[in-house]
Amino acid sequence: MAFALELCAGEAMKVVIVGAGLSGLSAAWHLAQAGVEAQVFEKEAEAGGACRTVVRDGFAFDFTGHLLHLRLPESRTLLQQLGLGHAFRRHKRRAGILLAGRVTPYPIQIHTARLPREIRRDCLLGFIQAWAQKREDDGSFGSWVLSRFGEGFARHFFFPYNRKLFCTDPFALTCEWVGRYVPRPELADVVDGALGLFPKSRAVGYNAWFLYPRVGGIGLLPQTLAQRVPRLFLNSPVVAVRLKQRQVLLANGQAVPFDALIATCPLPQLLAMAEPVPDELREKAKELAAVGVWNLNLAVRGQAKRREHWIYCPEEHLPFYRVGFPCNHGVLAPEGFHTVSVEVSVPSGQEPPPGWQEACLDALVREGLLSSRSDVAFSHVARVDPAYVIFNPRRTQAVAAVRDFFRKANVFLCGRWAEWKYSTMEDALWDGAAVARKVVQR
Ligand SMILES: Cc1cc2nc3c(=O)[nH]c(=O)nc-3n(C[C@H](O)[C@H](O)[C@H](O)COP(=O)(O)OP(=O)(O)OC[C@H]3O[C@@H](n4cnc5c(N)ncnc54)[C@H](O)[C@@H]3O)c2cc1C
Repeated sequence: MAFALELCAGEAMKVVIVGAGLSGLSAAWHLAQAGVEAQVFEKEAEAGGACRTVVRDGFAFDFTGHLLHLRLPESRTLLQQLGLGHAFRRHKRRAGILLAGRVTPYPIQIHTARLPREIRRDCLLGFIQAWAQKREDDGSFGSWVLSRFGEGFARHFFFPYNRKLFCTDPFALTCEWVGRYVPRPELADVVDGALGLFPKSRAVGYNAWFLYPRVGGIGLLPQTLAQRVPRLFLNSPVVAVRLKQRQVLLANGQAVPFDALIATCPLPQLLAMAEPVPDELREKAKELAAVGVWNLNLAVRGQAKRREHWIYCPEEHLPFYRVGFPCNHGVLAPEGFHTVSVEVSVPSGQEPPPGWQEACLDALVREGLLSSRSDVAFSHVARVDPAYVIFNPRRTQAVAAVRDFFRKANVFLCGRWAEWKYSTMEDALWDGAAVARKVVQR
């Protein structure tokens, strides 16, 4: 950053940031450290975006489970710089998969011992066959799963779970996003897992450990960052981006000039707000697909029925794809209560079917995840839309074309939904740092 500082010494660069989620806040904070005071416009009344926490009657609800998985040592330093070094507690993941009425530990690839014998046999045999055949995949997620894990794991977990999450056929998804997110065990580990011999002490997967605030929800992280951003304007939706004039227009009619614009709002929304944009690029926007997540949060009397932090629910007859028990990793409810977080996925822009909340409650009781519906004191629904980007075969090209177009107009895309990708809170923090560096160097 020191070099960058020299470059812009003597000039007051006008930087505007659309959105005060983690990526926008981080960009503003890193810019401030380089001597550039950006103006951040956020449409909501509160900063944090998808990492907000809603507090109701003493209960804290995140917008679905938000657990901080850190892989870079610099991220810990960043937390300390923010004065949050001791505010977070480290937890070892306790995650499960609900299958055939039983909960087996995640990842299923190394935990089939507790499953019914037929499922265990399917998974083991399929894995061995795939391992022996060493088939090439064709680039689709479906064929990637079959070639790495075999037909049993595909049929019992990967296909139904991902079909439910992405509302898309696994063969219509690419496997670009799997990277660090899907653990790939060796044959010996899978065999050990089928015999119940896989060592509990061995950490597997990017989310084997996580940090979470000791008290209250994940909103602590963006709120702390927001306090360090001097020119943050809440309740200030950007409604238009005038590329030629280099101005953003706010909902109150104010036009704000920029030399560089950092956009963290969803990419389709940016394309809709920007002008002029060539028609063929607007056409590309139609390739950008996503799902929205509806999060039913429950305030419940008594103790949680399960000790897992979260449970994946691949089976089709269950209306949700995941259920979380946030009180198992944080202090989020008054004494004598706990919270349950239920996630339902639908194509972006749509609503879940009528009666979905009732269907979720019934299924929770039936599967032993909730003692009784009468124990629910109240519920709260949060919507995250877009939530998961759909990696279809057109996505990469479409995103590259849109990014290059905006780059020429000094508009930088930053964060999970502006870059139209799959990424974590840690990534959002570093996306913000990286874009700040680019902007200042430019
Ligand atoms: C269901 C789900 C679960 C997740 N769980 C985890 C997890 O456990 N761990 C983890 O690390 N990550 C998790 N993530 C990912 C994490 O939420 C994101 O990586 C991170 O929040 C992205 O931050 P962002 O700033 O890029 O986007 P956002 O948080 O969406 O911020 C963008 C901001 O822009 C604002 N905005 C939009 N349009 C406008 C406009 N026109 N004018 C002004 N402001 C505007 C929005 O209000 C928002 O505040 C999860 C995501 C989802 C969807």
